[in-house]
Amino acid sequence: MIAMDVGGRAGRLRTVLGGAGCEALLVTSLTNVRWLTGFSGSAARVVVLPDELVLVTDGRYGDQARLELDAAGVDGRVTEGRNLAAQLDLLVDLVAGVGRLGLEAEHVSWAAQQGYAGAFGSELVATTGLVERLRLVKDAGEVARIETAADIASEALAQVLPLLAEEPAETEFALALDTEMRRLGAEGPSFETIVAAGPNGGFPHHRPDSRRIVEGDLLVVDFGALVDGYHSDMTRTITVGEPSPERAELLALVTEAEARGVAAVRAGVDAKAVDAACRDYITAAGWGERFTHGTGHGVGLLIHEAPWVNATSTDVLGEGTVVTVEPGVYRGGLGGARVEDTVIVTSDGCRPLTKTPKDLSCLR
Ligand code: ZN
Ligand code: ZN
Repeated sequence: MIAMDVGGRAGRLRTVLGGAGCEALLVTSLTNVRWLTGFSGSAARVVVLPDELVLVTDGRYGDQARLELDAAGVDGRVTEGRNLAAQLDLLVDLVAGVGRLGLEAEHVSWAAQQGYAGAFGSELVATTGLVERLRLVKDAGEVARIETAADIASEALAQVLPLLAEEPAETEFALALDTEMRRLGAEGPSFETIVAAGPNGGFPHHRPDSRRIVEGDLLVVDFGALVDGYHSDMTRTITVGEPSPERAELLALVTEAEARGVAAVRAGVDAKAVDAACRDYITAAGWGERFTHGTGHGVGLLIHEAPWVNATSTDVLGEGTVVTVEPGVYRGGLGGARVEDTVIVTSDGCRPLTKTPKDLSCLR
């Protein structure tokens, strides 16, 4: 696997701190901690000072953090506090010389902010999205991880598709898919796998249940794999046996809408224009009211992250960002259809990271 440029990230963050009105940043989002340092544990805060990066964690994670920072090539120091009070003391010492300290406003609880305000001598500055904006564009190592996850997901689906001949329950099919992804090397599914057959497909985020997948169903499968912390995300709507003309028409509509959305992706394009490419087509066909969610989202260390591809988004798609395109139409008892690809934005369009064909059918 291609290495990621983790070591250079704190330096890039430092170049935007001044513009945000702070000299140093206390990073409390675990996702941002991981992106900045490579640390993958469940508890840590990072102080990015002008001349030093310090990761503060507890006794469970000290050695792990040292190993992970070292492996990622991060120039930083790890310090451990046995409990939260001891860690706060460490933080107080670390920021003692900082006049204006940035906090990640979206990742600090009210209680934590009150605690910092009472303990730190620094003026606290609310910041938003400083690390998230740097995370938008994926480096080659990150793309390799997302693409590997996407390939594992595609291969796993191909492997379990023949199971549909046995009329499995949704839960059985979901378990087989999740197991296959792990067998192929994923850390696990990248979110709770959605398997929605027949009328259950009318619910965009249906949780798999005991319903059997039977002849005539449209089967919505929305899932992804997790590789080295990076997610993949894809949806296919599979026809089981011969679909009714109404269902076939529904799937054809969504498939064409998705293709139009993907065709609209290009560096410099407004994300809402990609949403419009899908939505206008579905609306013209009379089903705009049943396309009840946004068209897509960024994918990376989080399954849902910026940029946001929806009708009110102000994001512009940058070269090297990774986004999904996933229109869907949900028609209650008739069922639903959604088609989703993850793509990387390029200067002249995009490159699909999801390679599974669209027309998946399981004939009985
Ligand atoms: Zn999805
Ligand atoms: Zn998605």
